Parts: sequence; C-alpha cells; structure tokens
Amino acid sequence: MQDYGLLVVGSANADLVIGVERRPAPGETVLGSDLAVHPGGKGANQAVAAARLGARTALLAKVGDDEYGRLLLTSLRAAGVDTVGVLVDKASTGVALITVDPSGDNSIVVSPGANARLTPDDIRAARTLFALAPVVSVQLEIPLETVTEVARCLAPDARLVLNPSPPAPLPPEVLAACDPLIVNEHEARFMLGESAGEGPQDWARALLALGPRSVVVTLGADGALVASSDGCVRVPSPEVAPVDTTGAGDAFTAALAWRLGTGEDLTVAAAFAARVGAAAVTRRGAQESYPTMGELPGGGS
Ligand code: ADP
Repeated sequence: MQDYGLLVVGSANADLVIGVERRPAPGETVLGSDLAVHPGGKGANQAVAAARLGARTALLAKVGDDEYGRLLLTSLRAAGVDTVGVLVDKASTGVALITVDPSGDNSIVVSPGANARLTPDDIRAARTLFALAPVVSVQLEIPLETVTEVARCLAPDARLVLNPSPPAPLPPEVLAACDPLIVNEHEARFMLGESAGEGPQDWARALLALGPRSVVVTLGADGALVASSDGCVRVPSPEVAPVDTTGAGDAFTAALAWRLGTGEDLTVAAAFAARVGAAAVTRRGAQESYPTMGELPGGGS
C-alpha cells in the first residue's frame, strides 16, 4: 500500500463566480458578467496545492453525484490527488456563489451540500488512509463533530494541522491535538475575541494558551509568525507583485503540512510555505494559481 505525504480532510465546492459593477442591495437585482465555474473548497484546494508541489496526497471529502462533483473529481485527479477517499453522496455537491466587484471585494454564499454530510462514521471508515498519513490537515467547512473525529483517528506519531476557517469555537480536545493551529489575522481575532492583544506576537501567545502544541499566524505580504514553547519566530514572505490572494492561505497550509511530514522543523516548513503562498498570489484564482516546485520564488527545493 502507498504511504501518503499528506492526508487532507475537508470540503470540496464548485465556486460559481460572477463579476458585478456593484454588489446588489437587499431586494435589488443587478446584471453581471458571464458565469465562471471553478473547483474550490478549502479541502480540495489544499489537496491540489500539495499535489502540485509533488506531495503524495489523498483527500477525504464528500461530493454529490452531479456535474460539479465530476468537475471536482476531474480537477483533483488532474493535479495528481488520490481520490480514493472522495465519497459520492445523494446530496448536491457544495457550492459557493461568489460576486466580485471591480475593486476585488467579494460577497460569498456557501451551500455546504454534501460537505455537511461527511460524518464521523466516514472518518472511522477511512482508518486505512489515516494509518498511511504522517500529517493530516483539516479545516472547518465540514461538521465540527467530524473534525473532532479526525483528531481522534490520527495514527500514533501523526500530526494534525488545523486551519479554523470559517472560524468557529473549537473543543479543547481538538485544540490540544493541533500542531500547529494555523490562523490568519481574522481567524486569530475571532478565536481570541475581546482578549485579542495588539499584534501577532500577542495573538500567537494567547492562542498557544488555548492548548495547541504550536501556532502559526499568517500575515499576508508580511509572511508568518511561528510560535511554540520554544518561542516566537517571524518567517518572511518573498516580495512579489500580488494579482489575486484567493486561496493563498490554503496553499500555505498545504505546503507547511506536507513539509512537516517529511521531518522538517516547523519554522523551516513555514518558510517554505511562505514561498508557496507568495507564488499563489501572483496568479488569478485558487487552484489555478498553485505553483509546482519549479515555479517557486527562489527556485524549487
Ligand atoms: P489567508 O489567505 O488565509 O487570508 P494570508 O493572506 O495571511 O492568509 O496569506 C497566506 C500566506 O500567503 C502568507 O503567509 C504569505 O506567505 C503568502 N502571501 C499572502 N499575500 C501575500 C503577498 N501580498 N505577498 C507575498 N506573500 C503573500
């Protein structure tokens, strides 16, 4: 049986994107551009990002028996993701309805569809995949009880990487398993609420106090901050000309998770991930923007 570099457990959505002059007010109808349909969802994005870098990657997810489900399976396989864990359900494939205005601001409505039906039983049934994965990456576009089961099903010595997006309160059991918890500024502020301090160092320290073994705060063009009981280290991001930041966080997380599984230290893995995130913002889209090793700033390795 094949060992994986990374197992991703998470969502798979069709992103339905329409450009608009301005987003509609309540009760209003506006005309927009032609519809563009892209494969998306944080789980599928992460799996594609890791596979494009050359990681042996499996995705555990649920899609519908419909056109969008087939679109997702095709894009995952084209990137080299093992889809043995992508279950097909009677519910519709998850969809994100996205309107984007000329300034790049967007409004998004997500219909979780089959993603909401990825159950703790599905996780337990996939124990073979867990047994083969040194790192498991999960996000919050699937039910929280399913995420909790993921934390329980890790192989001995396997690491859990969790990006709490969209942000939601996490049970202590899940927090304690995160190594690292990866948040952007918005997610850090949500998790800390009123107690959020002034800046990334304060957030990282306060997040560590919630129980994870390590924390990474991503800071857009400013790179990331890595925090553990060993202290706090700032990792820079290469300077690039950003075109579209969609999906940068997913590319960062996937790259970091994969490199941890190869035995790299967290700070070294985060520095690699920052190069992958930076490359991803230089092209439009999410999955379409993800680099191969040869396309990384500073060359591949
Ligand atoms: P999210 O996409 O979740 O909001 P960030 O915006 O923090 O997360 O981006 C994730 C990572 O992508 C950053 O840590 C950084 O490495 C890279 N990145 C994002 N924006 C830029 C940018 N403008 N220039 C260079 N790197 C970037």
